[in-house]
Amino acid sequence: MSKRLLLSRILKRSGVFALLDALPSRPGVIVLNHHRIGDASKTRYDRGVFSQTAEGLGEQVRFLQKRMPIVAGEELEELLTGKRPLDRTYAAITFDDGYLDNYTNAFPVLRSLGAPGIFFPVIEYAGSDAVPWWDEIAYLVRNTDRPVLEVSTPVPLRVQVGSDREAAIRPFLRHYKRPENQDSARFLQELRESAGCSLPEPGRRFLNWGEAREMVAAGMEFGSHTCSHTILSQQSAEQQRWELTESRRILEKELGLRIHSLAYPVGSSSAFTDETEKIAIDAGFSLAFAFQGGWNRSGSIRPSHVQRISPAPMMVSLESQVFGLTRAIWTP
Ligand SMILES: [Zn+2]
Repeated sequence: MSKRLLLSRILKRSGVFALLDALPSRPGVIVLNHHRIGDASKTRYDRGVFSQTAEGLGEQVRFLQKRMPIVAGEELEELLTGKRPLDRTYAAITFDDGYLDNYTNAFPVLRSLGAPGIFFPVIEYAGSDAVPWWDEIAYLVRNTDRPVLEVSTPVPLRVQVGSDREAAIRPFLRHYKRPENQDSARFLQELRESAGCSLPEPGRRFLNWGEAREMVAAGMEFGSHTCSHTILSQQSAEQQRWELTESRRILEKELGLRIHSLAYPVGSSSAFTDETEKIAIDAGFSLAFAFQGGWNRSGSIRPSHVQRISPAPMMVSLESQVFGLTRAIWTP
């Protein structure tokens, strides 16, 4: 018996299947939040933003399709804003940042299974070789030959790099995201100097508008993830308003669609504020997605703060849970 089959039998016996199969009777919307789709071990950059391989995404979509409708566009908008009754569990599948692998790896899977995905590209990254801060931090910490890395912005942080580079990356990512970090350019410059290494030529890393239009023509949806992926809580109200209205304007011009969804960059509870939510509504977004928070239960949904679930490590789908558990149990 294969390890996966064995694990699936253990799960069946323990009632996890029954629990998951009870989900469709509960009214609400599960919104999954992916970033990159592919093999995390092959990247030179941040592995933490990979949630599935293309094959894993396919299994997850098929699992969901057997149990609940996968929705996007106006249907999702009406369900989450109360214009359409939530009579059962629905799922939505979202992808933040607009990496090229969303087009090369995720899109073919979704198209072949007839499932809509919702993509939130960053305007300034579209079609570019940009290396965003999380990818640069991961690259610098993984490739430095210095034993200790330190920055002083916004407060001092000193980390022994050691042999577990993945563990050493995390405190720098957390530090960057602190709401009091008002000078992220200085933080990165300090880290570059401390690491003493520079980025290689990356090649194109983000999908372009032509690819986005091809995805729209095949039934995919797009929303805003701001112009620059700035953490909105670190910005003035005026700057936030510009990020939201300008990104919406450019998406509508490039894609020829009404854009009604926003995903807050980073999306944790400290990455946006009540004021950000008001600005999002004023800027014409009927739905705005956080990164965390669980699933959206009927009766407690706030359209300007829709909760999402990261598909890793504890994923909603059984296949994903099986993968997560398999990795945890069987990886030496
Ligand atoms: Zn993002």
